[in-house]
Amino acid sequence: MENTFGMDIIPENDQQRIEALKRYKIPDILPEPAFDNVTKLAAQFFSVPVSRVSLVDAEQVFFKTGKGDPASVSRGLSLCSLAILNHEVTVFEDTRTNPLLLNNPLIRDNPGIGFYAGAPLLTPDGFAIGTLCITDQHSRSFSPHDAALLKSLAEIVMDEIELRLAAIEEPEKQREEELQLLNEKLTTTVEELAAANEVMLTTNEELAKTHDNLHHTMNRLTQSESRFRELIEQAPVAVLVLRGDGMVLEIVNPYMLKLLGHEPDIVGQPLLRGMPEMAGQPVFDIIYEVYRTGKPYYGFESPMIMKREGKTKTGYFNYAYTPLLENGKIRGVLQVATEVTEQVLIREELQKAEEMLRFSIEAANVGTWFIDIQTLEFMPSSSMKKLFGYLPDDEMSYDAILGQVSEDYRKKIIIAINATFTRSESFNIEFSIITKQNQKLRWIRAIGKLDNDADGKLIHFSGVAIDITEQKQDEIRKNDFIAMVSHELKTPLTSLKGYMQLLTAKNRKNEDGFTFQALEKGNAQITKMTNMINGFLNVSQLEAGKIYLNKQVLPLNDLMDEIVEEISITTQNHYIIIRPCPIISVNADQEKIGQVINNFLSNAVKYSPRGKNIELSCKEVNGWVQVSVKDEGIGINAADIDKLFDRFYRVDNPNTQNISGFGIGLYLCSEIIQRHNGKIWVESEPGKGSVFHFSLPMI
Ligand code: ADP
Repeated sequence: MENTFGMDIIPENDQQRIEALKRYKIPDILPEPAFDNVTKLAAQFFSVPVSRVSLVDAEQVFFKTGKGDPASVSRGLSLCSLAILNHEVTVFEDTRTNPLLLNNPLIRDNPGIGFYAGAPLLTPDGFAIGTLCITDQHSRSFSPHDAALLKSLAEIVMDEIELRLAAIEEPEKQREEELQLLNEKLTTTVEELAAANEVMLTTNEELAKTHDNLHHTMNRLTQSESRFRELIEQAPVAVLVLRGDGMVLEIVNPYMLKLLGHEPDIVGQPLLRGMPEMAGQPVFDIIYEVYRTGKPYYGFESPMIMKREGKTKTGYFNYAYTPLLENGKIRGVLQVATEVTEQVLIREELQKAEEMLRFSIEAANVGTWFIDIQTLEFMPSSSMKKLFGYLPDDEMSYDAILGQVSEDYRKKIIIAINATFTRSESFNIEFSIITKQNQKLRWIRAIGKLDNDADGKLIHFSGVAIDITEQKQDEIRKNDFIAMVSHELKTPLTSLKGYMQLLTAKNRKNEDGFTFQALEKGNAQITKMTNMINGFLNVSQLEAGKIYLNKQVLPLNDLMDEIVEEISITTQNHYIIIRPCPIISVNADQEKIGQVINNFLSNAVKYSPRGKNIELSCKEVNGWVQVSVKDEGIGINAADIDKLFDRFYRVDNPNTQNISGFGIGLYLCSEIIQRHNGKIWVESEPGKGSVFHFSLPMI
């Protein structure tokens, strides 16, 4: 016999156990309707899709209930083979993590068994002949209280089996004994009288025996019935049993009484007398229909008016009405219900909130969109259509709107979407479009994110879009103004510089120490101002998209030597060290890359105390060339590092308060490096120093 469990599953007394099973003469193949009510009840109590009675034979495990499923499986596969090894309830809350079950195809199959609980069917002489078991596709928890309920249900099944045996054995025994009697009559004609006496005696004994058996059976029946009632009383769901044409409330468990807001005195009364509020409610017709046709009825979130704390209220219920069958005849209706009022009310609140949100989004002119990841269907809201110049009924496709985006931004959008999908980066982008209807320029800001379902699978790419045309135009006007002012300032500054140089040259002959120093300082201030104005000009050109790269083959080590030589002339208080570099060339704009290295070095000077070293180095890393400037200065706090490359960002602390600057140097560096498809970053420790790096792809 195959065995997937990796442990011995045959108990020592298996031979006797199988004999005990045979004693009950339960046909192997046919399902037993007698067990159906119990398995149905178990499925409803524990809310599981599958509940079955199993019998564990020598080679096979046979199932007596659950139509459509296989009637038997090999003993070495069925989890019931494990459950009979134990007189308590066997529970696998999550089968997929249990090492015993790793090789079991019933668990591995799709959908497979994720949860299993089985209570052994124990004969009075202590043999486990099978189980009452429940399974689910998903893992779930199962409390000791649940296990006790399942065990009680298994005892009811065992009672049924015993009753069945008593019912089969009686007539068989009678027939055998009658035959014997007849034989005796034929062979012992001489002793007719004695035989007649004997017959009378035997009949009397038989009668007494039958009476005893009947009594025993009746006892068991009442026992079984009281167990059933007890179980219903304790059940964690509301249960109600109506019996007969008069629809008498036979059982109403405490949970149901609480739910209906009634006292236990309704038990024993006809439905409408006990619960007059039911009259005229649709549910009343449903109950009658189930009783008449025998077809079960299931309700989902059905409203019901009910009495609660003296008031009439509407409650919502998930419920099942099933016919109660006895000997194949409908005798009543069983109702099992769970209240879902709270969930329904919360959902209604949520729907209201969602509607309010939708109203506000529409009122604020915010466009929203969804992209279904599976089908790639693009679903824009009507305000989104309006933003792009479409009428509400117009078709608006993803490709069409990409076509409306100004050329400079189209590629940026595609790169940003790719980054969101591949690296889960946030999607936040500004771009200009030409509207569809009247061909106007409009600026849009779009923010999006990926949505996952409960299992973490991606389902949507969704987001919002807003019109930022006015804000953008203000920015453009401001940039134009800065550009114009900077440009205008440049001319007088250039002549001022010229005059200063003339004066310096003239003064050299006079050997007047004070004038020489004053002119030197004046010159330094003019250089500072020129740099500042150039910075502003650069920013405004950048914002207007007017920075053009003049790329060429650029030997980096030569450029670094040049810059260090130049900057060393004006740096008296720091030691600038250049580490030996390999000969490396990149395809880049010499002036712009020079500006970046210059900026790193002058910041290192600005933010380090006098006498400290500054180190410039470069190396090759996996096809990239990496340039680094290391200082022993004030360092940068972790909180500031992310924002350092933003426009106009300056660290605000007592160490930097007296150092002048506008926070545009690193912003320009980052834009320049990005336009070269490179990377820029910093490592720093406050009080110890910083290392600024950039890297560019090698040729
Ligand atoms: P600026 O120096 O004109 O303020 P930057 O954009 O060049 O503007 O630098 C932004 C900020 O980064 C500076 O204000 C400074 O606080 C910080 N910073 C830049 N380089 C260094 C450095 N080497 N050490 C410490 N802080 C630095």
